[in-house]
Order: sequence, then C-alpha cells, then structure tokens
Amino acid sequence: MTRHSASPHAERRQVRVFESDVGARVARLPLQAFPDFWVYAYLVLVEDYRVLIDCGSGFHHSNADLEAGLQIAGEMLGVPLSPSALTHILITHGHIDHFGGLSYLRERSSARIGVHELDLHTLTHTEERLNLVARRLHTFFAEAGVSPEHIPQFIATYKLGKLDYQPVTVDFTYEAAGMSLGPFKMLHTPGHCAGHVVIRLHDLLFSGDQVLSEITPHQSPEQVHPYTGLRHYLDALKTLKHWAGDVRLTLGGHNPPIENLPARIAAIQQAHQNAWTPYSRCWKSRIPWPRFRKRSSGAPMVTTSCWLWKRPARTWSISIRWDCWRSPTRTNSPPTASDRLPSATVACPRPNDHCDQPD
Ligand SMILES: [Zn+2]
Ligand SMILES: [Zn+2]
Repeated sequence: MTRHSASPHAERRQVRVFESDVGARVARLPLQAFPDFWVYAYLVLVEDYRVLIDCGSGFHHSNADLEAGLQIAGEMLGVPLSPSALTHILITHGHIDHFGGLSYLRERSSARIGVHELDLHTLTHTEERLNLVARRLHTFFAEAGVSPEHIPQFIATYKLGKLDYQPVTVDFTYEAAGMSLGPFKMLHTPGHCAGHVVIRLHDLLFSGDQVLSEITPHQSPEQVHPYTGLRHYLDALKTLKHWAGDVRLTLGGHNPPIENLPARIAAIQQAHQNAWTPYSRCWKSRIPWPRFRKRSSGAPMVTTSCWLWKRPARTWSISIRWDCWRSPTRTNSPPTASDRLPSATVACPRPNDHCDQPD
C-alpha cells in the first residue's frame, strides 16, 4: 500500500471513499497485483452487507495491500474491517488479477463467494482450465504463424502468476441467484472474459474490466475461450449502455472512475472501429495484405495484446488477418507463408496507455 507515495500517481494508489445516492459506502482499495501493475478491489458497506468486489491477484504485494487497505478503509469509515468481517466476495470475472486473492481470503474469512457460471471452473478447477487453455493457445499461435520456438514463451507468460493459486469452493453463481444479491444487480458482459459481469448498486456501477477510463480491455479469440472476443464484447457494451441507464459513477478494476459512462462506451466503440477499419478494407478489397498495406501506408494499426512483451501486437494482428483470410467468403484456402505479415509493420506506439493488461 503506498499511502505515503510521492509519485505523480499517488492519488491512484490511495484508499478512496465513495458514497451512493442512498447512502451505501464504498472504499476503493488499490492492490499491487504484479510488479508495477495495479488493480482495484472495492469494499462496500450497505444494509447488513460487507461485500468485497474482486480481491487482487494473491501474488506480489496483493494480499498485504488488501489487508492494509481494509484496515485503512475501516479507519476512514469508522468500522473495524478485516477479511473475517466480510459477508460476501463478488468476483467480476475470472482473470487472476481479480480473483487470485481468494486462496488467501478463504482461509481467513467465511464470506460467501460468488462468480458467474462461465468462470466457475477457473476458480474451482484451475489447473485443468489452465492446461485446456494452454493447449488451445498453442494451436492458435501455430495457426497464426508464430514461430515454434516462441510459442512456449507465450504459453509461459499466459501461466505467469496463475500456478500459485489454490482453487477454492464457490458458494453461489450469479445466474442461479437471479443475477442479484440484495441491492446488488449483475449484468453478464462476456467478451473480455467469458463470465464477466458488471455490478450495479444504486447509482454506482462496478465495471470490472468491461469499461475502463484509460484503456480498452484486451480481447482473446473465441477459439481459445468460448464467449470471449470482440463480437461478444461489443454486443455486451451495447446492452450495458441501456442497462446502466442513469448510473452516476463507474468504478473500474483499473484506472480512475468514469463520470460519463455513455461517452466512455462510445469512445471505446470508436477505438475498435478505427482499429478494425484497415483490416476490413483489406478484406473487402480482395487484395493480399502485404500489397494492401503498401498501398495504404500510414493506415492505423491494431495495437492489442502489447502486454505479452514488446512484440506481441504482431501476433494479434497476424491472427486477425488469419481470420480475414480464412473466411469462406474470402477464400477457402489458408494463407501461405508469403501472405504472412512482416513483423515490422505493426508497433505499439503507447504501450502503457491504450494497450491491454495482463489478465
Ligand atoms: Zn484486470
Ligand atoms: Zn480482465
């Protein structure tokens, strides 16, 4: 916990308190989930509920930050707080930076743990899920043109920080509970993660990674994770825009709060549209990518998945182009080696701003 930090981002690293329009009190707890990578958990006091929304990675300083954050929040809210005081832990989605702290909390708290059905096994049968996804990733990278010697590195990065997690039992799932818990209402928003939900409480929205103020959350291909990918994500954004209605403040799993949710949703939709446009034009032109790229030099490129080292935008764009080329309306034959995207054509210009997070 960096309550005393003098960095320009010090405010982001402090416990901060919010209040809903009808008096629910919320403390934002900053957790360093991985070195220089921060995530927020939220402690919510409403009626008889003492709810923690997400719980960090369980890795690096995350658990220590959580304990310290609860103590500071308790002092600020005038209520003694510790893991044993929690009544519920609600997980927004099955990414390790949001649920990895469960192993630690399970031993110290009898709080009831909830997650969406589609992410249940990520929490309860972790090793099985990791191996399944790693196998699919291997196939995906091979099809996308990643050279065989690099694939193990990508797989190792995917598993980073996940192998220490000890599976926990989950007490309830959201669909089975009618997508609500007392005053908390959930909306399923697949795309970034299969079982992603956003949680509404009064005029506050806890958006997990679905909507963030400074980054567009990464998407993984549906062939690796069912119910993930851009189509699901964009559909869910549209649904969310209507469902959220007059939400006053959106509190995300990363980045500062959002005061104008519809505007932020529109900006994210536009960012994806801009990123997709050159690929879409290429596909419609029926011109092989290298020639198309030469003609339209300077066209903006997709900058997704830059978190996987410095080069990975290349992998993602190759995979997008693979999907273009394999479309039955475009061609029935797979791309040839000469179609493959030269690595130098894609670069991530602002890796800490618009790129993705290591979920
Ligand atoms: Zn995240
Ligand atoms: Zn995530």
